[in-house]
Amino acid sequence: MLNDDDLNRYARQVIIPNFDEEGQEKLLKTNCLIVGAGGLGCPVALYASAAGFGNIEIYDEDIIEISNLNRQIAHKYNQIGNNKAENLAQECLKINPNISIKSKKKIFNDAIDISGFDLIFDCCDNTETKYILNFLSHKFKKILISGSAVQMEGQFAIWKSGLNKGYPCYECVFPRTNEKAPITNCREAGIIGPVTGLIGSMQVNEAIKEIAIKDYQSTAGNLFLYDGLTLDLNKIRLIKNNQCPVCSD
Ligand SMILES: [Zn+2]
Repeated sequence: MLNDDDLNRYARQVIIPNFDEEGQEKLLKTNCLIVGAGGLGCPVALYASAAGFGNIEIYDEDIIEISNLNRQIAHKYNQIGNNKAENLAQECLKINPNISIKSKKKIFNDAIDISGFDLIFDCCDNTETKYILNFLSHKFKKILISGSAVQMEGQFAIWKSGLNKGYPCYECVFPRTNEKAPITNCREAGIIGPVTGLIGSMQVNEAIKEIAIKDYQSTAGNLFLYDGLTLDLNKIRLIKNNQCPVCSD
């Protein structure tokens, strides 16, 4: 049951059809892992906190630098030098002190136990970490919502291969390769804030649907590509790789 404070705080979302107080109760019980407290992690954590995802844990080992501030919207000029995960958690609590948020000042690795989480937000820009998150999310049957952005383009997808064998996983679509990948990190290729803001918002939009909305059609099994120059949002139906080393068992 929602208390009076919750009913006031979440008043504008519980009146949405198919959301209701029941949807809010589900959000409050949800355990979220957010990996990365940068351009995607900031909007993801801020919106997830504001919406009332009840338990959130954020991983990032980096410290805030001045070149982060064009997009990492939770971090402020006077917080340069602070750890990103810790700072983001504190900023989220300023919006919603009624939820539980923990921060970990370290890089995510495959020894970390994710079995207690319901939802994993991949907000990192490191390919190896994306593969680890995919492997663990499949193994422990979790919903993985990944995002990435570079220059004026972004993409996001929901992966549920552990929950439904018909769905592809991240590695089906982005197989590991020995070839040198094109430069896709923000440091070398560039990025603007509105693109990371939009992709992060979409990640939380999908998370709210997965947890709280009744009778919706999951977008798992699709990849969404956003072009900030043309404003095209393309939806690509993904195909499972029957030889995938992660999910073809
Ligand atoms: Zn796969």
